[in-house]
Amino acid sequence: MDKQQEFVLRTLEERDIRFVRLWFTDVLGYLKSVAVAPAELEQAFDEGIGFDGSAIEGFARVYESDMIAKPDPGTFQILPWRAEAPGTARMFCDILMPDGSPSYADPRYVLKRILAKTSDLGFTFYTHPEIEFFLLKDKPVDGTRPVPADSSGYFDHTPQNVGMDFRRQAITMLESMGISVEFSHHEGAPGQQEIDLRYADALSTADNIMTFRLVMKQVALEQGVQATFMPKPFSEYPGSGMHTHLSLFEGDRNAFYESGAEYQLSKVGRSFIAGLLKHAAEISAVTNQWVNSYKRIWGGSARSAGAGGEAPSYICWGHNNRSALIRVPMYKPGKTGSARVEVRSIDSGANPYLTYAVLLAAGLKGIEEGYELPAGADDDVWALSDAERRAMGIEPLPQNLGEAIALMERSELVAETLGEHVFDFFLRNKKQEWEEYRSEVTAFELRKMLPVL
Ligand code: GLU
Ligand code: MG
Ligand code: MG
Repeated sequence: MDKQQEFVLRTLEERDIRFVRLWFTDVLGYLKSVAVAPAELEQAFDEGIGFDGSAIEGFARVYESDMIAKPDPGTFQILPWRAEAPGTARMFCDILMPDGSPSYADPRYVLKRILAKTSDLGFTFYTHPEIEFFLLKDKPVDGTRPVPADSSGYFDHTPQNVGMDFRRQAITMLESMGISVEFSHHEGAPGQQEIDLRYADALSTADNIMTFRLVMKQVALEQGVQATFMPKPFSEYPGSGMHTHLSLFEGDRNAFYESGAEYQLSKVGRSFIAGLLKHAAEISAVTNQWVNSYKRIWGGSARSAGAGGEAPSYICWGHNNRSALIRVPMYKPGKTGSARVEVRSIDSGANPYLTYAVLLAAGLKGIEEGYELPAGADDDVWALSDAERRAMGIEPLPQNLGEAIALMERSELVAETLGEHVFDFFLRNKKQEWEEYRSEVTAFELRKMLPVL
């Protein structure tokens, strides 16, 4: 038994923890959990815990439904809302096949696989997410409009604002679980919050995002409101993005940084961005995986009313250009050695493991193939005409899930990164979602058609 495992077993006793939840994530990004008694843990560390994978989205073909969850002791944390003895703790798991090999369906493994390749190339991948979400008075299940929990706006600081109490309690809880928060504020729309996590290696960040979503929902319930990570719950307000800052390190040196270069961006940094741009459209079904995701990045004519909310629609990069898909944030004088890129397409409904895997794959491809970085865009690209954008070589992101699926289906990069099983399952599942959506007669059609036809 290793030191981390011993630490877990000792803590269970000292803190009177009676339940241990083993967490993992399905292909669509939903958190799954199976609780075990502490007495079972020693065996769980050795052999894992068996479960029926056929009940989990994307996990198993029926004839291979036995799966094993093996807890990662490095992720052990006591759940703060269940800390009183007898308490409850959790660990993230790796999912194994009955023969002990990694499960081809485990999103955590998909990310680990490309991280291993990254490390073979001499790099470590760090991510820093800015997570936006809404607090609602309640979550109507009948398709009626939800009601935001407050009526504040960007950076508002008003007394008795639900969001303020909420953020204080939520951040305390995250910190007590070892998740550091860098910034938090009220976002642009009523009820909309943003909390930014401190940068960490991509696997820890992805685990942290899964924890974050649960903690937000938990704290919201305690305050009599509901948290949602739906990308675009309101047509007239901005949606919820999960912009992520990315960087590669070689040892303790930031590989994107080069002193004196334009924007302090090294060749590695430039090729990485070029890779993100070149493959942006084909990975879109992963970074923006829901029908609703495209309502956020395609605000359409409503964009002029501010409803687009700075979500990107076109594939370009810029220095501090908030209409660009990729932004190279302002270089902070005095903070030498630092350079990063912000990807702004990702929304809060994404599976963080798969999302970070495809972004990393795209960036690495850029480095391996030595892609040249196209010229940056300085203008507000939404304000340009289609012809102007075309002349500048700026292509649109997919405009709906159907387009995104068609592009992903032809992508070698995504197939290779996700692996055959996740790739096939994902496409099948998303095609079904798109078909269901298309077959629905919407409130829009009834409102527009019935009065005149
Ligand atoms: N809510 C915007 C989005 O959907 C982002 C606003 C911001 O720049 O933080 O991406
Ligand atoms: Mg924001
Ligand atoms: Mg941002």
